[in-house]
Amino acid sequence: MQDFDLVVVGAGIVGTASALWAQKRGLKVMLCDPNPPGSGTSFGNACTLATYAVMPVNSPAVLRALPRLLSSGDSPLSVDLMHALRHPRWMLSFLANCRPARSDHIARQLADIMGHADAGLNPLIAEAGAEDLIVNRGQLTVWSTKDAAEGEKAGLAFRKTLGIPFEVLGPQDTLALEPGLRLPIHGAVHYTAARSVRDPQELINRMHRRFLALGGQWRQARVSETRAYGTSVEVMLGDTQVEATRVVIAAGAHAGSIRGSGAENLPLGTERGYHLIFSNDAHRITRPVGWAEGGFYAVPMAQGLRLAGTVEIAGLRAPENRGRLAYIARKGAALLGPLPQPDSHWLGFRPTMPDSMPVIGHAPHSDRIIHAFGHQHLGLTLGGITGRIVADLAEGRMPNLPIAAFSPNRRFA
Ligand SMILES: Cc1cc2nc3c(=O)[nH]c(=O)nc-3n(C[C@H](O)[C@H](O)[C@H](O)COP(=O)(O)OP(=O)(O)OC[C@H]3O[C@@H](n4cnc5c(N)ncnc54)[C@H](O)[C@@H]3O)c2cc1C
Repeated sequence: MQDFDLVVVGAGIVGTASALWAQKRGLKVMLCDPNPPGSGTSFGNACTLATYAVMPVNSPAVLRALPRLLSSGDSPLSVDLMHALRHPRWMLSFLANCRPARSDHIARQLADIMGHADAGLNPLIAEAGAEDLIVNRGQLTVWSTKDAAEGEKAGLAFRKTLGIPFEVLGPQDTLALEPGLRLPIHGAVHYTAARSVRDPQELINRMHRRFLALGGQWRQARVSETRAYGTSVEVMLGDTQVEATRVVIAAGAHAGSIRGSGAENLPLGTERGYHLIFSNDAHRITRPVGWAEGGFYAVPMAQGLRLAGTVEIAGLRAPENRGRLAYIARKGAALLGPLPQPDSHWLGFRPTMPDSMPVIGHAPHSDRIIHAFGHQHLGLTLGGITGRIVADLAEGRMPNLPIAAFSPNRRFA
């Protein structure tokens, strides 16, 4: 007799959404994490439910821009060369996925799952009584150069075919929408249906509280190992062991550290990202504004103005890079005018597969173990639908949307 129908490892947005979906379905669920719910990467992101973000980071344009991005001292991308040399498999596979055919394939798969993102998250927002945390003012992407705006044309055309609503704006209309912008702007796109979350960790906390209210169990402990047998799986949790019908690995960028889960054999990497908080400056803008060339978002949110983004390839252990924080502060001032000293800063770890697609599905070696990680830049947006898919798999049935492209068994290049 198993202790639980499902043990969920990791209480970020993906794990908490999985636990709540499964508990709502009547399964007996335990959620575990050594840290408080929503305190990992899900804490510090750019707060945007980015249903428009269907173009992968991997693209021919990124490949072309790579020499410039890597050689410039003023770039949103930074790569630790020693780390890259120690992990050639991830780097080479990432680059191979920038080929046009691969990039197109990835965009179509992301678009497919993105079409279900709201249907996966909205029931959890309602269940958690968190409607007050959701802001319906769209998202604004601005370009400061003609070249960068031109480069996005194919992406916009693709979004149009998907029915994603957006308005293309000139400099005057952009300033009319966000008068606080100080950057000379070439043009912008307003994704009118995008939403944002005033406080991502509070959203997860409320989902967690609802999970507990429905009878879910919470253990603040680290999972070191899972051992799958024919009809059950043992989960090594702190210094105890529990037995479950299934386990879901939702430990974000750390999933590879769980022995026996199958995640340790997958090319899971991390794109590190940073944020700065300016507590008294949220009034400067009224919606998330992404500066494409700058590689970050400015977001008015519960804790103030958050400047969040950039990509640093340096692994999980390298110390925080003060140069990256200085970059965001400098570019933030270029976008919005002079800013005070930030009140806090943060480093987080996007869980990223080299093809920029999440891993969602049964582990290669056992259908008792479900993988749900690798949501890179889109975990807040895709956490809800991933949770619904996980609940389907935990009930032993096929989800009503295709997930073969996200299989841990896929080829990653
Ligand atoms: C700067 C930045 C901006 C971003 N902006 C956006 C955005 O605007 N919109 C969007 O959709 N996405 C955004 N993202 C991406 C998004 O934040 C992530 O994809 C998402 O948070 C990943 O969620 P997760 O639940 O997989 O991981 P996490 O939130 O990291 O949760 C994983 C949890 O697993 C736990 N854990 C680890 N190891 C173990 C173990 N052995 N046992 C038990 N528990 C364990 C950790 O403690 C952690 O709590 C952004 C990311 C960054 C860095």
